Amino acid sequence: MAVPVIELSGVSRRYEEGPAALDEVSLTVAPGESVAVLGPSGSGKSTLLNLIAGLYRPTAGTVTVDGTRVDTLGEAGSARFRRAKIGMVFQFFHLLDDLTVADNVLLPAEMAGVGRAAARRRAAELLDVLGIARHARAYPGRLSGGERQRVAVARALMNRPPLLLADEPTGALDSASGEDVRELLNDLHADGQTIVTVTHDLSLARACATRTVEIADGRVVADRPTPRTTPATSATSTAVAR
Ligand code: ADP
Repeated sequence: MAVPVIELSGVSRRYEEGPAALDEVSLTVAPGESVAVLGPSGSGKSTLLNLIAGLYRPTAGTVTVDGTRVDTLGEAGSARFRRAKIGMVFQFFHLLDDLTVADNVLLPAEMAGVGRAAARRRAAELLDVLGIARHARAYPGRLSGGERQRVAVARALMNRPPLLLADEPTGALDSASGEDVRELLNDLHADGQTIVTVTHDLSLARACATRTVEIADGRVVADRPTPRTTPATSATSTAVAR
């Protein structure tokens, strides 16, 4: 089997009060898998995502992402790790409203010290393929929710991360924009991008995840192939994903 992109082994995260937010979770994600993480509010989904991204440290167990032991990194190492290996997409986009669309997308490359010409080429390519090139000079506040999420996806893919993490990416969108983002994630998966999506949106899981992991009370209670109900392809090509 190929080297996993994510390997969690016996991972727990406890707070001083209450039961463990995550309780001895072991999970392996292979390259190219698209995994949906489902579970009720408070079940530990965000905790899981933050542990994978190196934003939290586990109180027990090991977290390895693309060959890096994330759980032992210090603050600077953890930030470097995220710049190189993780793209993140959030429910409320987290774009910088006083930067243009193009500058938002360029930001991760600048932070990683990528040369300006190469970064501009990559940004232009992503904006084009994601269908938002005409908004390159606009400010995010002028865009619809679906367009903003496309910008956020472009930014997340800027440094060609081996892993894309999405936290309720359709949670703040109307149904048409939600469908748009579902198709986009499905296309990225078809192009080989490894994706973990935390969601309440069953149709998102069905549209873009090959595997569904259910969490309850900090434990994995189900881990199975996602039943597919929608066609696996759409008109958009996202061949620049990797
Ligand atoms: P989900 O994303 O599924 O809604 P979370 O990962 O946010 O769940 O939370 C899992 C559990 O951990 C919840 O019971 C929550 O109250 C608890 N929790 C999360 N963050 C903290 C914290 N900083 N201090 C104490 N408990 C926390």
